[in-house]
Amino acid sequence: MSVNQQTHTGPPYGQPQPGYQGYQQPAYGGQPLPGVPHSQYGVYNGPMPGYQQPVPPQGSVRAPSTSGTSLSSGHLGYSPFGQGDVQNGIPASTAPMQRPPASQPFLPGSAPVPVSQTSMLQQYGPPPASVQQLSNHMAGMTIGSTSTSAPPPAGLGYGPPTSVPPVSGSFSATGSGLYTPYTASQGPLPPSVSQGLPLAQPPFSGIGPSSYPPTTGAPRPPTMPGPPLPVQTAAGPPTSQPNHVSSPPPPPSTLSGPYQGPPMSGLRGPPPPTHPPQPGYQMQQNGSFEQVRGPQTNYGGAYPGTPNYGSQPGPPPPPKRLDPDSIPSPQLNELPPQQKPRHRIDPDAIPSPIQVIEDDRSNRGSEPFVTGVRGQVPPLVTTNFLVKDQGNASPRYIRCTSYNIPCTSDMAKQSQVPLAAVIKPLATLPPDETLPYLVDHGESGPVRCNRCKAYMCPFMQFIEGGRRFQCCFCSCVTEVPPHYFQHLDHTGKRVDFYDRPELSLGSYEFLATVDYCKNNKFPSPPAFIFMIDVSYNAVKSGLVRLICEELKSLLDYLPREGNMEESAIRVGFVTYNKVLHFYNVKSSLAQPQMMVVSDVADMFVPLLDGFLVNVNESRTVIISLLDQIPEMFADTRETETVFGPVIQAGLEALKAAECAGKLFIFHTSLPIAEAPGKLKNRDDKKLINTDKEKTLFQPQTSFYNNLAKDCVAQGCCVDLFLFPNQYLDVATLGIVTYQTGGSIYKYAYFQLETDQDRFLNDLRRDVQKEVGFDAVMRVRTSTGIRATDFFGAFFMSNTTDVEMAGLDCDKTITVEFKHDDKLSEDSGALLQCALLYTSCAGQRRLRIHNLSLNCCTQLADLYRNCETDTLINYLAKYAYRGVLNSPVKTVRDALINQCAQILACYRKNCASPSSAGQLILPECMKLLPVYLNCVLKSDVLQPGLEVTTDDRAYIRQLVTSMDVAETNVFFYPRLLPVTKADVDSDSLPAAIRNSEERLSKGDIYLLENGLNIFVWVGVNVQQGLIQNLFGVSSFSQISSTLNTLPVLENPFSKKVRSIIDMLQVQRSRYMKLIIVKQEDKLEMLFKQFLVEDKSLTGGASYVDFLCHMHKEIRQLLS
Ligand SMILES: [Zn+2]
Repeated sequence: MSVNQQTHTGPPYGQPQPGYQGYQQPAYGGQPLPGVPHSQYGVYNGPMPGYQQPVPPQGSVRAPSTSGTSLSSGHLGYSPFGQGDVQNGIPASTAPMQRPPASQPFLPGSAPVPVSQTSMLQQYGPPPASVQQLSNHMAGMTIGSTSTSAPPPAGLGYGPPTSVPPVSGSFSATGSGLYTPYTASQGPLPPSVSQGLPLAQPPFSGIGPSSYPPTTGAPRPPTMPGPPLPVQTAAGPPTSQPNHVSSPPPPPSTLSGPYQGPPMSGLRGPPPPTHPPQPGYQMQQNGSFEQVRGPQTNYGGAYPGTPNYGSQPGPPPPPKRLDPDSIPSPQLNELPPQQKPRHRIDPDAIPSPIQVIEDDRSNRGSEPFVTGVRGQVPPLVTTNFLVKDQGNASPRYIRCTSYNIPCTSDMAKQSQVPLAAVIKPLATLPPDETLPYLVDHGESGPVRCNRCKAYMCPFMQFIEGGRRFQCCFCSCVTEVPPHYFQHLDHTGKRVDFYDRPELSLGSYEFLATVDYCKNNKFPSPPAFIFMIDVSYNAVKSGLVRLICEELKSLLDYLPREGNMEESAIRVGFVTYNKVLHFYNVKSSLAQPQMMVVSDVADMFVPLLDGFLVNVNESRTVIISLLDQIPEMFADTRETETVFGPVIQAGLEALKAAECAGKLFIFHTSLPIAEAPGKLKNRDDKKLINTDKEKTLFQPQTSFYNNLAKDCVAQGCCVDLFLFPNQYLDVATLGIVTYQTGGSIYKYAYFQLETDQDRFLNDLRRDVQKEVGFDAVMRVRTSTGIRATDFFGAFFMSNTTDVEMAGLDCDKTITVEFKHDDKLSEDSGALLQCALLYTSCAGQRRLRIHNLSLNCCTQLADLYRNCETDTLINYLAKYAYRGVLNSPVKTVRDALINQCAQILACYRKNCASPSSAGQLILPECMKLLPVYLNCVLKSDVLQPGLEVTTDDRAYIRQLVTSMDVAETNVFFYPRLLPVTKADVDSDSLPAAIRNSEERLSKGDIYLLENGLNIFVWVGVNVQQGLIQNLFGVSSFSQISSTLNTLPVLENPFSKKVRSIIDMLQVQRSRYMKLIIVKQEDKLEMLFKQFLVEDKSLTGGASYVDFLCHMHKEIRQLLS
């Protein structure tokens, strides 16, 4: 290799960086627009002043105050319409939701939707008689009216400097596979490289645009004359009968007197149940809350005795209901008062996550989830189900905290239930679900509302014989462009309804025109730049050699578009310690050339031609380079590294190449070398539990925030692989990664033998996964609500546009909504998420997801349609952002208080009157206390014993982009008794609750949380099982330093390893395997994951916490 040592003091040539300097709008939005003050992207889709002559609304129209635009943003050019004669959304008579549910939209490749739809329809039928017993004393409501006592607005610790405070900083993580059913068939991750790129199904191979409509000869599914869906009636189940105002709750029973002892120690006791414990539990689990479940969409089989509930008007609940809502504590009866323990609640009598998960699986796992009905609550993330898109986005793309939104802001505040959507725009779908179709409207681009710029979707209403359409978001009427005109049938539906994805499906893509591209120029394909730390630690640990070896084969697995033969992505290589080394790997060279830049203060790229290359063309030179790098630095003594200049170098290279891309940075230490972005060690665990604790989560310099902003502008996404042996300040180093939509991976004390599999699997997946570049997302909403807050790994330069240099298939963006007006039960509420991005082949696209929700005037309807897993996902993200600005204790208290208010509001307004000593939980939220406790006990909010500051920063940022399935298993890990597994079956053993008392000394268990898998071995496990699993003859011989199970040829070993492989495939990160022997010292670590138990650092047990919540609720009610 020829090495050209240069010590430039500045760029050798004027760099043709197209950057953003010249990037003046006609950018997104398709119209020449006046400059937008603070964002290059400001133009995108925005309700800009430049709207061309908005067509005066037909009839009464509400001012489009929603559409996701902040009223204060100053962008509103549509005020001329004023508030006038206001109408919320679409008039009921033209409500687009009248699509017959069973009339199958054209779903190419899938059969007509089975008639099982009817089962959903009928749930709107008469509710069970008992429903009417529901007390609903809204009139007397006082609790929730205190406005939010949520954590103080948690602005950014390191968000965009001038952006809107409530906007989140951005953090990274990857999402998870939701698709348990399919993973089994995908097989385990093979460890070896040759066959090891298990995810090598190139992320795009199946994801490319399907042609649409399909070949003209394709048979159209017959139209099934189904009755119009009575959606409008769905919002008014009789449970909400406002005329039933019950008397105030009876005074507390004398038996359930005040709490004694410390707050967390539980209640003195609810009144002894008047029914035997077991039946009480049964009812508790299955029937106790039935009065509010009556007409709930799709909650089939809620009652044990009525499995068909859902397809028939529900039978009346069992008449014998003696305080079924209460949590029985039978032992109280049996003990003399003095001996009553402070809490004698039977753990089996409190809501069980396992039971809820199992019930949902058996009730909802067998039939497809068809998205044609407004406001349907999807099955839980832990249930395997198939989704059929009939006009609303799949829950794989969007999940909401509630599918029935209060009509008024007052009601929402009263309930304290946050209204949020967790959106995963590029989610991977299982193979048997249809990928979004790509719609190409040619040069004219997608059809959009003239005013709010919403994209054509199934909820737009065509009028005047099809010549115009009325926007479902802002009610503005827009001319249908001539090329898009189509006649309407007698129901007012366009006759090409089923031929157009954008009219009949919830999710689809548009091919973007040049108007949606920077500089009015179609983008170049993106580039990947691999940047390898070659300082002493990295070399000595074998990491450098490992990375170089892996890249040799991995480069053949870069993402490809559709069925393209080779990836369009170009690659480049940099190594660094205190200085940077660039490599020329041009195909015409016999050997790679190195260019050294030692002046890191003003970073530039010393070569253009030959730095970013096509893998196939330059293969020989690249392989040669990767062979030489480990040798070149084998004897390095350099221990110091830089970091800021590394990102700057990658950014400059992408600028010079005029493309977006991703940096893969492999980094080992705190960057203390003299350079921009130099850091000092400021770790201080003594700050924990002080007011200064928040500084541990904040970056120590604003340098990286500014750099992140530049990276986002260029579409430069940064993925970071960290290999620290000590503190390296993840909170600061991670900033650019989070704000560019990248991912962080961390391998503390990296050792080749034990960690290489995990690292390589992560790297392979990360390199191959689907990613959109240079992305901008906007969420529009129908009149009455608007998006007000955002959580995730991104950057925002205004109040509406979420910008991401890269967005991959695992990342979620969480959006919170607030009312800005009244909603109506008739029109419901609509969301449209539009993501503009560049595909891996350089194609500019728009991915659109639409979702319609119900609206309610009765709180009971809200509580019946909540999704606790999503609620917890939101609350965790909210709390984790809060710690940037508030003491952790404040954040924890606010979380508890908010949840207590949610439950108190339910108790007061929706539950039947009963003794105050009873804890009454809404059916949909009966796991809220246990899950909330898990969030409170998590390392960010209550650090465990061995948890480092970097771990906490890492987890905080990871969780912020997690999807609902990931947070679910992260906070409440899955515990599987593998000794009970059926070796002849493909299925997983039934999970058990996370408590030590559920473990048997004679069994072996797996526990996974998305980051780790523990194998726990009881001291009394039969010798034969130990022999079969570990290949040793006794318990004492099992090595707890193993990080993989030996490959042994016996059914038990195969079964356990196959379970582990199944779990690994389901997660977006390769989990670390840890063997824990009972009573061994590692068991302490393991026990922290038994989240129903009291934790070593003071976290409450589930039972104690439930009692504490009960106390909080009672205080709110009294
Ligand atoms: Zn509109």
